[in-house]
Amino acid sequence: MVGELTILVVSNQKGGVGKTTTAISLGAALVEQGERVLIVDLDPQANATSGLGISKAPPNPVYGLILKERPIEESIVSTAVPGLDIVPSGPDMAGAEVELVPLLAREYRLRTALGSTREYDTVLVDCPPSLGLLTINALTAGDAVIIPVQCEYYALEGLAQLLSTIEAVRARLNSHLDVLAIVLTMEDRRNRLSLEVIDEVRRIPRAVRLAEAPSHGLPISLYDRRSAAAQAYDDLAREVSARLRARAPIALGGAIA
Ligand code: ADP
Ligand code: MG
Repeated sequence: MVGELTILVVSNQKGGVGKTTTAISLGAALVEQGERVLIVDLDPQANATSGLGISKAPPNPVYGLILKERPIEESIVSTAVPGLDIVPSGPDMAGAEVELVPLLAREYRLRTALGSTREYDTVLVDCPPSLGLLTINALTAGDAVIIPVQCEYYALEGLAQLLSTIEAVRARLNSHLDVLAIVLTMEDRRNRLSLEVIDEVRRIPRAVRLAEAPSHGLPISLYDRRSAAAQAYDDLAREVSARLRARAPIALGGAIA
């Protein structure tokens, strides 16, 4: 992975579990570690876009990229954080799931679009809350998936469905794909979920500062860098980097064999 582009997909078909917060906070933490990071906002709700303070974007950047095969350079907007860029979402994305259906190679659109990027170390794809074609595009493009899970009983049901979708993508579209981490978001003492059995789990505390940051258009690392939440995402970024490095020799061995 070192010196190469890594595409990380932040996905869970449940809404409100912390996907967008994780994409922004992890992206900013990776930038602090010296990486050049691009966030791709695939969600028609465009929360990552507004959460990074982007209001005036070129018209429908991610739509142009995926549906119209517009060059990626024309779709990228810089944020208040040097080293952190975004392909913003916009209103046209509401129809994208349907418009993708009749297209040729419809699952490979994002993968093709990102193929020409050389400017970044990591691309973080913020998925919509569904397992439709946009999410399939992300999984087909990705090296690894990060799954935010909220600490509640029903989380595990959704997780099984997501893991079987990932398995299907791995079998048919992208054999390279891995689940890198399950992140337990909004953890508090009242609501512990016994996910200890899964060793991939990291924990992010419930923190008001994290919920406030998007209205200021800033990632937590800039909004309140001393907060426990900023520290937690910093730790997550370190662990993600370490896991990707640990993976690299395996890929290399595979290539040699
Ligand atoms: P998703 O992208 O999965 O829909 P979001 O990242 O938008 O989820 O999070 C849903 C809501 O919860 C948002 O209002 C967000 O600010 C808030 N939130 C996310 N993570 C935390 C956290 N660790 N502590 C407190 N609030 C959080
Ligand atoms: Mg979101």
